[in-house]
Amino acid sequence: MSASRHPALLSTDPELASFVAAEEVLQAQTLRLIPSENYVSAAVLEASGTVLQNKYSEGYPGRRYYEGQQNIDRVEALAIERAKGLFGVDHANVQPYSGSPANLAVYLAFAKPGDTVMGMALPMGGHLTHGWGVSATGSWFRGVQYGVRADTGLIDYDAVRDLALAERPKLIFCGGTALPRTIDFAAFAEIAREAGSILVADVAHIAGLIAGGAHPSPVDHVDVVSTTTHKTLRGPRGAMLMCREEHAKAIDKAVFPGLQGGPHNQTTAGIAVALHEAAQPSFTAYAHQVVANAKALAAALLQKGFDLVSGGTDNHLILIDLTGKDVPGKIAAKALDRAGIVVNYNTVPFDPRKPFDPSGVRIGTPSLTSRGLSTEHMPLVADWISRAVDAAAKGDEQALAAIRAEVTDLMAAFPAPGLPLS
Ligand SMILES: *Cc1c(COP(=O)(O)O)cnc(C)c1O
Repeated sequence: MSASRHPALLSTDPELASFVAAEEVLQAQTLRLIPSENYVSAAVLEASGTVLQNKYSEGYPGRRYYEGQQNIDRVEALAIERAKGLFGVDHANVQPYSGSPANLAVYLAFAKPGDTVMGMALPMGGHLTHGWGVSATGSWFRGVQYGVRADTGLIDYDAVRDLALAERPKLIFCGGTALPRTIDFAAFAEIAREAGSILVADVAHIAGLIAGGAHPSPVDHVDVVSTTTHKTLRGPRGAMLMCREEHAKAIDKAVFPGLQGGPHNQTTAGIAVALHEAAQPSFTAYAHQVVANAKALAAALLQKGFDLVSGGTDNHLILIDLTGKDVPGKIAAKALDRAGIVVNYNTVPFDPRKPFDPSGVRIGTPSLTSRGLSTEHMPLVADWISRAVDAAAKGDEQALAAIRAEVTDLMAAFPAPGLPLS
């Protein structure tokens, strides 16, 4: 259908071109519910594939180690200005290659190896880079971890305070990858102040919701905001670090020359475009629709008898606990994939099963909202999920194929940004 979109690629490397074309079909035809994924616009896609790729530009605008930066400086300065305007921050660094190196730069800026750092435990919904053991951040630093309450599935702020005051960590991370509820940045700020810690809000998942006013902003409460650009913010794969002026030098020095070499200028261009798009009224509407869709989907899933961690959602993300369904997360996720519904299996808090074979499925609404699905479609989505999980329990491949045909049908009516019409 779409190999001709990349004529040079097709003639040079037809094998690789065929993989890209197949991915375009897959992304067009499936219902993509992975909450960290999205569809970038055609404009972001174009900006990310430009000759800016060819340029080395170690340093920062106006302070480079290579010549010929006339245009690159303007690209990066524009991205920085747009980030500052959109999020209301003093300082923005748009060079981190992705969310994980952005977080590593924060450690480099404020901590020494062996220092105590604090974050949410990975199985509770935190991120690897918040001091979890298998990550460099958990082996080079001494990670102490907080979680959620067993009875509510919500962050236990009293326990966070007790741990912070007992451990006095250099850094405290708030935010995570599987948190369906609003983060109370003011509560974290109070705790960090008492403990004398630098507070980092890692808003990788919710940056687009914050930009669109659908989640409170951490900016007035924290020392550093770390975010990816490719999740709800709907930009290219990359990251940003934002802070008050007092931390600007430390952050910039940590990213370059501390951790990275030359920035990926084509990505910086894509980020600039995404930030421009995120400043439009239509993006505010998008962010609120993402949340409305998630709430409607959560309500429909509850009606179908699913257990949801914390009982629902405030944001774009839902964590389904399949403990009561006799179908573990991985089997459910793989069955959903065969039904054309793409999710990821995930641990749930206090999961009795192992991380590579956990009890949960994590879903979210950023991608389907980018295609224009709205609350009226969510009962149907919940019905598909319910039928697919039942089919997985029975090994009913025919039922999965039938759902896949229905999914493909609906998706054809909602073309995705950046993709050719299916
Ligand atoms: C996705 C994510 C990251 C890491 O981003 P990568 O680009 O995958 O390295 C970091 N922190 C949180 C909270 C995330 O959700």
